[in-house]
Amino acid sequence: MIKHDYKPQNNKRIFNKGIFNHIPAWATHPYMILSMAALIMLLAYQLSQDSVPQDGFPQTEIPVKDPVEYESGEITIQAMESPTNIQAPIISSQANYTDPIEIPLQLESLSSPNNRIRLIDSPDKWLTESVRKGDNLSLIFKRMDLSAQVVHKVITLDDNTKKLKNLRPGEIIHYQLDNKHQLVALKWVIDLQNTLYLERNDQQAKQSADTKIKQPPPYKSHIINKTIELRTAYIDGTITDSLFMSGKRAGLSDTLLVNLANIFDWDIDFILDIRSGDTFSVLYQEKFLDGEKIGNGNIIAAEFVNQGDSYKAVLYQDSKGHSSYYTPGGLSMRKAFLRAPIKFSYISSGFKPRRFHPIQKRWKAHRGIDYRANTGTPIRAAGDGKITQSSYNKYNGKYVFIQHGQGIVTKYLHMSRRAVSRGKRVKQGQVIGYVGTTGMSEAPHLHYEFLVNGVHRNPRTVKLPKAEPISKSEKTNFLTSSKILINQLESRKHIQSIPQVAK
Ligand SMILES: [Zn+2]
Repeated sequence: MIKHDYKPQNNKRIFNKGIFNHIPAWATHPYMILSMAALIMLLAYQLSQDSVPQDGFPQTEIPVKDPVEYESGEITIQAMESPTNIQAPIISSQANYTDPIEIPLQLESLSSPNNRIRLIDSPDKWLTESVRKGDNLSLIFKRMDLSAQVVHKVITLDDNTKKLKNLRPGEIIHYQLDNKHQLVALKWVIDLQNTLYLERNDQQAKQSADTKIKQPPPYKSHIINKTIELRTAYIDGTITDSLFMSGKRAGLSDTLLVNLANIFDWDIDFILDIRSGDTFSVLYQEKFLDGEKIGNGNIIAAEFVNQGDSYKAVLYQDSKGHSSYYTPGGLSMRKAFLRAPIKFSYISSGFKPRRFHPIQKRWKAHRGIDYRANTGTPIRAAGDGKITQSSYNKYNGKYVFIQHGQGIVTKYLHMSRRAVSRGKRVKQGQVIGYVGTTGMSEAPHLHYEFLVNGVHRNPRTVKLPKAEPISKSEKTNFLTSSKILINQLESRKHIQSIPQVAK
């Protein structure tokens, strides 16, 4: 088309007669021809660069919503407005999803939302539809091309199917369709233990054919409830480098390892007192569903041998349902003071047992214990008490003092930040500040002091208030249970324990 405002006078005839007969004189000038040729070559080069595909495959977005869909070989393709479930070759979960994927796809079918691809090889094939934000069964069934009538039939069937009103985004509805695109079955995993199954009532067809009596419901449902089975497992090990490394090598998960340290938090300083040759043995529960492990339960009995001292604990649930750890003889593992004001899990990553040895020896020289830790590591109150000081001076830096019962005072120095103010009451384990290097300090660390009636004592060796024993009414039951657990722990032990001093 020629624009109306563009009327080249001398080119008018080009469009009437042949183009090659009437080339204007300026166009045949040698300079013009040369420059045109150069321009064409440049253009050709540019085009050849652009036409090289990035990865040899057209860029098609294939959002992978759920790895389960991949494992079962089904991919949801986000084409047009609505997704279409299609069958794709099974791709291993290790596949790089940006790689070209060959999908037997009829693209023209995607252009019409009413003409979606349904590749159902066998009636046993489960298709999936994932629940989206703001979804409900009507919207989901619509995407499956199922009528509102079917939605109504399903949701009003019984109490089981009523649960389908509580779908949460991200959940997957598995369903089967027959050749006539009728719903055959539906499966929905409600939670780890419960799965809803809905099936077409096949009796319906037969009965309604020969009699005109009341039709049976079109579907039937049931919920399969699996019970979690608890199995007792056992792990032991010897510490050769760090508690974390040795624990992991022995097979303890991070959670079990932290739980183990928490049990002995009042007896063992897991930051300063762990040594090569220390041993641990742990009896714990594993949760199984359908013969498959789904996670760990509680530690039910454990022993930790620290520098030759043996500490044992058993889990006991009293008649009121409260669970707590006790010594085999029935004293609570919880005591008035934690061994260390810093949780071992904050330190353990780069920790080597011997590294802290010389620091601890310095304790006599400066009447405190230094915990090397990164700036910002939380510091916890060793016991319940009242904050008597929360202040700053050029020696202590930012510091906090806590007054506990029985004339005991604990002091925490060189903080980067304090988290409590003077006069406040604190609970054992509560964060009172963060490790820093304020005041007379060369590197981030916590300087911790423990005083009894104004005299500095070593918290590792000082005699502390005794632990609470189990109540008399529980004692008989407790001792029976404790004996069984300790026997189990001992009988499964296969580590060569070093000579121990029982505590
Ligand atoms: Zn110090």
